[in-house]
Amino acid sequence: MGLFTMGMGIKMNEFSMIERYFVPLTMGQAGTAGLQDDGAVVSIPSGHELVVSSDTLNERVHFMMGASPEHIARKALRVNLSDLASMGASPICYQLNIAFPFKPDEEWLASFCGALLEDNQRYGVYCSGGDTTSIKADTLSISITVMGSVPRGQAVRRGGAKEGDVLILTNPIGDAALGLQVLLAGSEGDYVDSVERYFVPQPRVGMETILQKYAHAAADVSDGLIADSSHIAKASGLGMRIDLNALVFSKSVVSALGNGRIKPEEIVCGGDDYELILAVSAVNREILLYELKKHKLNPMVIGEFTDKALGINIIGDNAYRINDSTQGWQHF
Ligand code: ADP
Ligand code: MG
Repeated sequence: MGLFTMGMGIKMNEFSMIERYFVPLTMGQAGTAGLQDDGAVVSIPSGHELVVSSDTLNERVHFMMGASPEHIARKALRVNLSDLASMGASPICYQLNIAFPFKPDEEWLASFCGALLEDNQRYGVYCSGGDTTSIKADTLSISITVMGSVPRGQAVRRGGAKEGDVLILTNPIGDAALGLQVLLAGSEGDYVDSVERYFVPQPRVGMETILQKYAHAAADVSDGLIADSSHIAKASGLGMRIDLNALVFSKSVVSALGNGRIKPEEIVCGGDDYELILAVSAVNREILLYELKKHKLNPMVIGEFTDKALGINIIGDNAYRINDSTQGWQHF
């Protein structure tokens, strides 16, 4: 337990911090016992399975030094919710683990937890507990483990795609990559919407039943469209063809492509979009597109899963840019 200095000269220790800032995040769920127990009791609907996933955000790796506490909080929770969404699971709760390299002041904690509280309400989740530590480093680290439920046997895996399935992208991508680009260049200008998309992802929560019903396989686009689609193909033991000409972009991305602010390969190899990619049988293609549009999304069919022997094929006007690059979609 460490001592933290609060704004008005009041001493705040680990326990008063938990009580003041983290207990409200439990949304009064009885199983969390106001964070007074060593662990939380989490109920899941009968006949369901628990789906668990973790994502860590480290300062200077996943977010910039000095990023706002609201942005860090929302991104940390939302990237986790996106993993549940791609599994076809409904979110329940999350564990919040924070390693502080600094003494957090009240203002920081109030902003961070205020943003989480809002997102708890938006997505119908609660914080089931966590861990608060100090770290002898100069960067902040936030790790969230999210828990969700899915009817037994209905989880959507990466390995379930079938030969002949079409690849559907739930909504245009590229805004996050553009947002990061203009942010790094210090020229947000006309692209503030894209910067917001980069900072605050929109996880596709609420699509669970549609995915369970129609998707053979799914992933969220966190590492980049080509990389994440390839993961589905590989896990399913298939090849894949993606037609870059089938991609539809937002007005901002179209404008940025036109004036060279972003290159086509940066869009399909850039990450942080958190849209979903789904493998769907040809017979369910139209109904799935219809269902996604009902959720105000602008989905598109961008490719097809093929025999493994055909490998990964990127076609379309700018495909040479990706196929010619030795690095391709590798991040390291
Ligand atoms: P222990 O000493 O057993 O590790 P802690 O003092 O770490 O327990 O935690 C006490 C309670 O506070 C636990 O219920 C834990 O889940 C909760 N807690 C600690 N840190 C956080 C956090 N960052 N967010 C939410 N809950 C937290
Ligand atoms: Mg602990």
